[in-house]
Amino acid sequence: MPPEYDITAADVGGQRAMVIQPSILDDLDPDLKSALAARRVANVTGECPACGARVRWPNRAERRAAARAGRAMTIVFVHEDDCVALCDGD
Ligand SMILES: [Zn+2]
Repeated sequence: MPPEYDITAADVGGQRAMVIQPSILDDLDPDLKSALAARRVANVTGECPACGARVRWPNRAERRAAARAGRAMTIVFVHEDDCVALCDGD
């Protein structure tokens, strides 16, 4: 079964955004549920509630390159090694 997603409206980096995220389904493994819950909060607030990791925003050159290519920007979080958001270390 493919994953299910939902959309959250958020203020991301000072701009309104739609954040598409995996839904937390009842039948998921408890560790995966915890990981998804932490990631969902991190994705809309810019800070991981479990380890405090903060989003690394693309710099101006990266934003312009994404706009020229017509693609979405890559947003990066670097979580602590033991953060629940990493679930199985992946
Ligand atoms: Zn984290």
